[in-house]
Amino acid sequence: MRTLTHALVALLLTILAPLAAAQGFSLAPLPYSYDALAPAIDEQTMRIHHGRHHQAYVDNLNKAVAAAPALAGLSLEALMAQISKAGDAVRNNGGGHWNHTFFWQSMTRPGQGGSPSPELLAAINRDFGSLDQFKAAFKAAGLGRFGSGWAWLIVTTNGKLKITSTPNQDNPLMDIVADRGQPILGNDVWEHAYYLQYQNRRGDYLDAWWQVVDWSTISRRYADAQKDAQK
Ligand code: MN
Repeated sequence: MRTLTHALVALLLTILAPLAAAQGFSLAPLPYSYDALAPAIDEQTMRIHHGRHHQAYVDNLNKAVAAAPALAGLSLEALMAQISKAGDAVRNNGGGHWNHTFFWQSMTRPGQGGSPSPELLAAINRDFGSLDQFKAAFKAAGLGRFGSGWAWLIVTTNGKLKITSTPNQDNPLMDIVADRGQPILGNDVWEHAYYLQYQNRRGDYLDAWWQVVDWSTISRRYADAQKDAQK
Protein backbone atom coordinates (compact mmCIF):
# COMPACT_ATOMS: atom_id res chain seq x y z
CA MET A 1 0.00 0.00 0.00
CA ARG A 2 2.78 2.38 0.96
CA THR A 3 4.73 1.60 -2.18
CA LEU A 4 1.60 2.17 -4.22
CA THR A 5 1.04 5.56 -2.54
CA HIS A 6 4.63 6.55 -3.24
CA ALA A 7 4.27 5.45 -6.85
CA LEU A 8 1.09 7.49 -7.23
CA VAL A 9 2.70 10.58 -5.68
CA ALA A 10 5.70 10.19 -7.97
CA LEU A 11 3.39 9.84 -10.97
CA LEU A 12 1.41 12.90 -9.93
CA LEU A 13 4.60 14.97 -9.54
CA THR A 14 5.77 13.86 -12.97
CA ILE A 15 2.50 15.08 -14.46
CA LEU A 16 2.34 18.31 -12.49
CA ALA A 17 5.97 19.47 -12.81
CA PRO A 18 5.74 20.56 -16.48
CA LEU A 19 2.42 22.27 -15.72
CA ALA A 20 4.02 24.28 -12.92
CA ALA A 21 6.94 25.18 -15.17
CA ALA A 22 4.60 26.21 -17.97
CA GLN A 23 3.11 28.87 -15.70
CA GLY A 24 6.44 30.62 -16.12
CA PHE A 25 7.69 33.91 -14.80
CA SER A 26 5.42 36.75 -13.78
CA LEU A 27 5.67 40.46 -13.06
CA ALA A 28 5.27 41.36 -9.38
CA PRO A 29 3.63 44.68 -8.48
CA LEU A 30 5.98 47.45 -7.38
CA PRO A 31 6.63 47.52 -3.60
CA TYR A 32 5.36 51.17 -3.61
CA SER A 33 3.05 53.35 -5.69
CA TYR A 34 4.04 54.62 -9.14
CA ASP A 35 4.43 58.18 -7.86
CA ALA A 36 6.36 57.18 -4.71
CA LEU A 37 9.84 57.95 -6.05
CA ALA A 38 9.07 61.48 -7.28
CA PRO A 39 10.73 63.91 -7.61
CA ALA A 40 13.79 61.69 -8.18
CA ILE A 41 11.89 59.51 -10.70
CA ASP A 42 8.55 60.72 -12.08
CA GLU A 43 5.31 58.72 -12.11
CA GLN A 44 5.02 58.37 -15.89
CA THR A 45 8.54 56.96 -16.19
CA MET A 46 7.76 54.42 -13.44
CA ARG A 47 4.47 53.37 -15.09
CA ILE A 48 6.04 52.81 -18.51
CA HIS A 49 9.23 51.29 -17.10
CA HIS A 50 7.43 48.73 -14.92
CA GLY A 51 4.19 48.16 -16.83
CA ARG A 52 5.60 48.07 -20.36
CA HIS A 53 9.38 47.52 -20.37
CA HIS A 54 9.59 45.07 -17.47
CA GLN A 55 6.36 43.33 -18.57
CA ALA A 56 7.84 42.86 -22.05
CA TYR A 57 10.98 41.24 -20.59
CA VAL A 58 8.79 38.82 -18.62
CA ASP A 59 6.57 37.97 -21.61
CA ASN A 60 9.52 37.50 -23.97
CA LEU A 61 11.42 35.44 -21.38
CA ASN A 62 8.46 33.08 -21.08
CA LYS A 63 8.31 32.70 -24.87
CA ALA A 64 12.06 32.10 -25.10
CA VAL A 65 12.08 29.50 -22.31
CA ALA A 66 9.05 27.74 -23.84
CA ALA A 67 11.11 27.40 -27.02
CA ALA A 68 14.09 25.92 -25.10
CA PRO A 69 12.91 22.75 -23.28
CA ALA A 70 16.35 22.19 -21.70
CA LEU A 71 15.78 25.33 -19.60
CA ALA A 72 12.27 24.42 -18.43
CA GLY A 73 11.68 24.70 -14.69
CA LEU A 74 14.96 26.49 -13.90
CA SER A 75 14.76 29.39 -11.45
CA LEU A 76 15.78 32.83 -12.67
CA GLU A 77 18.98 32.63 -10.57
CA ALA A 78 19.82 29.21 -12.04
CA LEU A 79 19.30 30.61 -15.53
CA MET A 80 21.68 33.51 -14.80
CA ALA A 81 24.40 31.15 -13.53
CA GLN A 82 24.39 29.15 -16.80
CA ILE A 83 23.34 31.84 -19.26
CA SER A 84 26.21 30.86 -21.58
CA LYS A 85 24.14 27.78 -22.48
CA ALA A 86 21.08 29.87 -23.38
CA GLY A 87 20.38 31.93 -26.48
CA ASP A 88 20.32 35.71 -26.76
CA ALA A 89 16.56 35.93 -26.11
CA VAL A 90 16.89 34.25 -22.70
CA ARG A 91 20.03 36.27 -21.92
CA ASN A 92 18.42 39.62 -22.76
CA ASN A 93 14.97 39.01 -21.33
CA GLY A 94 16.04 36.85 -18.38
CA GLY A 95 18.58 39.52 -17.47
CA GLY A 96 15.92 42.17 -17.97
CA HIS A 97 13.56 40.37 -15.58
CA TRP A 98 16.18 39.78 -12.88
CA ASN A 99 17.71 43.26 -13.14
CA HIS A 100 14.42 45.13 -12.93
CA THR A 101 13.04 43.03 -10.05
CA PHE A 102 16.28 43.79 -8.16
CA PHE A 103 16.12 47.48 -9.15
CA TRP A 104 12.55 48.07 -7.87
CA GLN A 105 13.47 46.46 -4.56
CA SER A 106 16.56 48.70 -4.25
CA MET A 107 14.47 51.87 -3.95
CA THR A 108 12.03 53.49 -1.57
CA ARG A 109 10.36 56.87 -1.03
CA PRO A 110 12.73 59.87 -0.91
CA GLY A 111 14.15 60.29 2.58
CA GLN A 112 13.08 56.81 3.75
CA GLY A 113 16.13 54.89 2.60
CA GLY A 114 18.10 55.36 5.83
CA SER A 115 21.87 54.95 5.68
CA PRO A 116 24.32 52.07 5.23
CA SER A 117 24.67 49.69 8.20
CA PRO A 118 27.89 50.11 10.23
CA GLU A 119 29.25 46.91 8.62
CA LEU A 120 28.48 48.07 5.07
CA LEU A 121 29.79 51.58 5.75
CA ALA A 122 33.05 50.10 7.09
CA ALA A 123 33.43 48.03 3.92
CA ILE A 124 32.67 51.09 1.74
CA ASN A 125 35.27 53.13 3.61
CA ARG A 126 37.78 50.27 3.32
CA ASP A 127 37.29 49.72 -0.43
CA PHE A 128 36.48 53.24 -1.70
CA GLY A 129 37.79 55.66 0.96
CA SER A 130 34.43 57.19 1.94
CA LEU A 131 30.72 57.09 1.12
CA ASP A 132 31.12 60.22 -1.02
CA GLN A 133 34.00 58.69 -2.94
CA PHE A 134 31.96 55.53 -3.45
CA LYS A 135 29.03 57.59 -4.80
CA ALA A 136 31.33 59.48 -7.17
CA ALA A 137 32.84 56.23 -8.49
CA PHE A 138 29.39 54.65 -8.90
CA LYS A 139 28.19 57.70 -10.83
CA ALA A 140 31.28 57.52 -13.05
CA ALA A 141 30.47 53.86 -13.82
CA GLY A 142 26.93 54.84 -14.82
CA LEU A 143 28.10 57.78 -16.92
CA GLY A 144 30.85 55.71 -18.50
CA ARG A 145 28.52 52.98 -19.75
CA PHE A 146 28.18 53.87 -23.44
CA GLY A 147 24.66 53.19 -24.69
CA SER A 148 22.41 51.00 -22.55
CA GLY A 149 23.31 49.05 -19.46
CA TRP A 150 23.71 48.98 -15.70
CA ALA A 151 26.05 50.13 -12.94
CA TRP A 152 26.51 47.68 -10.06
CA LEU A 153 27.95 47.36 -6.58
CA ILE A 154 28.93 43.74 -6.06
CA VAL A 155 30.49 41.59 -3.35
CA THR A 156 33.29 39.57 -4.96
CA THR A 157 34.18 35.99 -4.02
CA ASN A 158 36.92 37.29 -1.70
CA GLY A 159 34.40 39.46 0.17
CA LYS A 160 35.45 42.83 -1.29
CA LEU A 161 33.12 45.48 -2.64
CA LYS A 162 33.57 46.35 -6.29
CA ILE A 163 31.84 48.71 -8.74
CA THR A 164 31.18 47.22 -12.16
CA SER A 165 29.13 47.97 -15.24
CA THR A 166 27.43 45.69 -17.77
CA PRO A 167 25.97 46.36 -21.23
CA ASN A 168 22.34 45.77 -22.20
CA GLN A 169 20.64 43.47 -19.65
CA ASP A 170 23.70 41.49 -18.60
CA ASN A 171 24.39 41.30 -14.84
CA PRO A 172 27.18 40.13 -12.49
CA LEU A 173 25.42 36.80 -11.80
CA MET A 174 25.86 35.68 -15.42
CA ASP A 175 28.63 33.22 -16.23
CA ILE A 176 29.65 35.32 -19.25
CA VAL A 177 30.57 38.64 -17.61
CA ALA A 178 34.13 39.68 -16.74
CA ASP A 179 33.34 40.85 -13.18
CA ARG A 180 31.18 38.25 -11.48
CA GLY A 181 29.87 38.62 -7.95
CA GLN A 182 26.77 39.08 -5.82
CA PRO A 183 25.06 42.38 -6.68
CA ILE A 184 23.83 44.40 -3.69
CA LEU A 185 22.98 47.61 -5.61
CA GLY A 186 22.28 48.31 -9.27
CA ASN A 187 21.15 51.28 -11.31
CA ASP A 188 19.48 51.15 -14.69
CA VAL A 189 21.16 53.62 -17.07
CA TRP A 190 19.07 52.79 -20.13
CA GLU A 191 17.51 55.97 -21.52
CA HIS A 192 14.05 54.53 -20.79
CA ALA A 193 14.90 54.81 -17.08
CA TYR A 194 15.25 58.60 -17.11
CA TYR A 195 14.67 60.22 -20.50
CA LEU A 196 11.15 61.61 -19.94
CA GLN A 197 12.32 63.61 -16.94
CA TYR A 198 16.02 64.15 -17.54
CA GLN A 199 16.35 63.87 -21.35
CA ASN A 200 20.08 63.55 -22.08
CA ARG A 201 21.19 64.50 -18.55
CA ARG A 202 22.14 61.05 -17.28
CA GLY A 203 24.42 62.57 -14.65
CA ASP A 204 21.52 64.50 -13.08
CA TYR A 205 19.51 61.27 -12.90
CA LEU A 206 22.42 59.46 -11.28
CA ASP A 207 22.77 62.26 -8.69
CA ALA A 208 19.04 62.39 -7.88
CA TRP A 209 18.83 58.60 -7.62
CA TRP A 210 20.63 58.54 -4.26
CA GLN A 211 17.50 60.16 -2.75
CA VAL A 212 15.57 56.92 -3.31
CA VAL A 213 18.22 54.24 -2.66
CA ASP A 214 16.96 51.97 0.12
CA TRP A 215 20.07 51.51 2.25
CA SER A 216 18.31 49.15 4.65
CA THR A 217 17.75 46.70 1.77
CA ILE A 218 21.28 47.19 0.44
CA SER A 219 22.71 46.60 3.94
CA ARG A 220 20.64 43.41 4.34
CA ARG A 221 21.91 42.16 0.98
CA TYR A 222 25.48 42.91 2.07
CA ALA A 223 24.98 40.91 5.28
CA ASP A 224 23.47 38.00 3.27
CA ALA A 225 26.37 38.06 0.80
CA GLN A 226 28.87 37.96 3.70
CA LYS A 227 27.06 34.91 5.14
CA ASP A 228 27.08 33.18 1.75
CA ALA A 229 30.79 33.89 1.32
CA GLN A 230 31.54 32.21 4.68
CA LYS A 231 29.74 28.99 3.72
MN1 MN B 1 14.97 49.41 -17.50
